[in-house]
Amino acid sequence: MVTPTGGEERIWEILRTVPDPEIPVISLVDLGVVRSVRLDGPGVEVVIRPTFSGCPALQHMRDEVERALREQGYEPVTVTIDRLSSWSTNALHEAARQRLLAFGIAPPPVATGDLSADLAKPVACPQCGSSDTVVDSAFGPTLCKQIFRCKACRQSFERFKPLG
Ligand SMILES: [Zn+2]
Repeated sequence: MVTPTGGEERIWEILRTVPDPEIPVISLVDLGVVRSVRLDGPGVEVVIRPTFSGCPALQHMRDEVERALREQGYEPVTVTIDRLSSWSTNALHEAARQRLLAFGIAPPPVATGDLSADLAKPVACPQCGSSDTVVDSAFGPTLCKQIFRCKACRQSFERFKPLG
């Protein structure tokens, strides 16, 4: 049994180690999913918000947050899902965008709320920076991602879809 030390900053630190189930290179904190944390004696309350509505990853995120905090000695751990607070890709922290790029995933443009306009914006290749890219229709999109192909360096890459 570990005795928890540190204040709420320590909790944020632990949550920064919990990866997003869809995009494991970024943490739930950098994804903008964790809304708030509150220490309550030896226990902790965490509020998270769903990313894509109906995303089955939500239950998984909640379990992972609970597990990570329990491992560090926090008990009880309460994770509340704030369904009224809407997440958008604009909530991505700058660190998350950098991580995506570093792992060859094109980050989303700023979402304006007009999805078809946002999807039509040019997408730069994370490998070579060229904007001469096309959606690779051989692969169907997921809720979160699309596959693109770069005509300049011929690499395929994933692009995180904008969501406003
Ligand atoms: Zn390229």
